[in-house]
Amino acid sequence: MTFMRERWARNDHEASRQLEGDLTEGSDIIVLGAGVVGITTAWELARRGHGVTVIDRQTEPATGASHANGAQISPSEAVPWASPSNLRLALAWMRQADGPFKLRLTADSRQWWWLLRFLASCREDVWRRNARRMVRLALASQRRLDEIVEEVRPEFDRERRGILRVYDSDAALREAEGIVDFMAPLGVGLRAVGPDEILDIEPALGAAIASGAVAGGLYAESDESGDAQAFTRALAHAAAGLGVRTVLGQQVERIDTHGDRFHSVVAGGVRHMADHLVICLGLDTPPLTRSLGFDLPIYPLKGYSATLRLAATNSAPRVSVTDETRRMVVSRLGDRIRVAGKADLVGHDARLDPRRAEQLVRDLRRIYPDLDHDGPPEFWAGLRPMTPTGVPIIGRSPVDRVYLNTGHGSLGWTMACGSAVLIADLLEGRNGELDPADYESGLPAD
Ligand SMILES: Cc1cc2nc3c(=O)[nH]c(=O)nc-3n(C[C@H](O)[C@H](O)[C@H](O)COP(=O)(O)OP(=O)(O)OC[C@H]3O[C@@H](n4cnc5c(N)ncnc54)[C@H](O)[C@@H]3O)c2cc1C
Repeated sequence: MTFMRERWARNDHEASRQLEGDLTEGSDIIVLGAGVVGITTAWELARRGHGVTVIDRQTEPATGASHANGAQISPSEAVPWASPSNLRLALAWMRQADGPFKLRLTADSRQWWWLLRFLASCREDVWRRNARRMVRLALASQRRLDEIVEEVRPEFDRERRGILRVYDSDAALREAEGIVDFMAPLGVGLRAVGPDEILDIEPALGAAIASGAVAGGLYAESDESGDAQAFTRALAHAAAGLGVRTVLGQQVERIDTHGDRFHSVVAGGVRHMADHLVICLGLDTPPLTRSLGFDLPIYPLKGYSATLRLAATNSAPRVSVTDETRRMVVSRLGDRIRVAGKADLVGHDARLDPRRAEQLVRDLRRIYPDLDHDGPPEFWAGLRPMTPTGVPIIGRSPVDRVYLNTGHGSLGWTMACGSAVLIADLLEGRNGELDPADYESGLPAD
């Protein structure tokens, strides 16, 4: 890892400006949000020698969208949900009460604005451009995750066995196969697999193959899964060891500026000063940026998960699966199994709808009818902080010394470690492997 210490003189703001970064060595930075994105950002900055304070309204890290997500780290699936094929499917799903997608239009003009931008992104050329950006970020993120794991050794029930995307008909598989050629030049190995190979990869899918629930699939060997919450909490602990100060249980009320420059944050009635601010508040980013004079196209898309404690682990599945027929993901987390899915565009309504959550367990039974678990499932509802394009918003804001790392939608766990590197590189004025311009499209134009 490069330390900026060698390059910049302490407190020499003019010198750092010439490099187009804002940071000097040992700068003080406030990171808002202790989700997977905020904590990876805080760790990355502290690892480079900066003084970091993290502020969150919850009393523990990873309590928002990062709490009980689908657990997949999936560069092979890091593509926008705004696509011509999803648009066709969504129209059919809206007519099914138990379908993967639900739309309830609200009086909130931001929902309409977001939806129009989403529809405008459902073009093949736009999808391809944004998918390339997302895959590059996801791959960089997975590489950084490997380095972090090597260094920090967090426990997070990691399973490095790939992800199997399964389909219930040959026709559906054939239609999906185009993705293999799209991914190959980006460096993602994905291959079509028939029932025999699926059985070799994940023997627990035998019953699903016999019943016809699984006819074939696509296998991404280098994808993986792991518990995002456990990782985030372990990394927060490691960050504290690097000197990161964590202020939990404090709602951020205000960001104050002096002229057009960041000055301080008021949280829980206390003013926190620093040289720079990085906002990683996911879904709750826009209300604060609006008070700074600009809005961001981030809107909630509700999803659910059910986590079951396995009665017997021997025959239970280990390979993470995406069932494209029911649009759900299934991941093994130690002695637990988690199923996640559903996409409800219903405004800022975080309530758990038991019918939607229980449907996930019924869908899980379609592919794993013999799964034995102890106790009732633990249900959870979470709001994905979605941008219309699927590409997160990472970059400088229009306010001097305020940066954004937010809007990771359905892929925050997959993209967090790479996003942290990108934002740290931007703060330091350093050229990294990703083109920052690719992640600025959600930002207001200057
Ligand atoms: C059902 C579901 C399944 C998913 N599956 C996957 C998956 O398999 N793979 C994947 O890569 N991604 C998945 N995701 C997406 C992923 O979980 C999110 O993209 C990610 O958690 C976003 O992280 P974040 O840190 O940006 O947001 P969050 O985790 O929500 O963190 C934001 C933090 O900001 C804090 N905050 C907000 N406002 C304030 C305030 N005013 N003051 C103080 N603190 C504040 C919150 O308390 C919270 O801790 C899934 C999401 C859902 C809902």
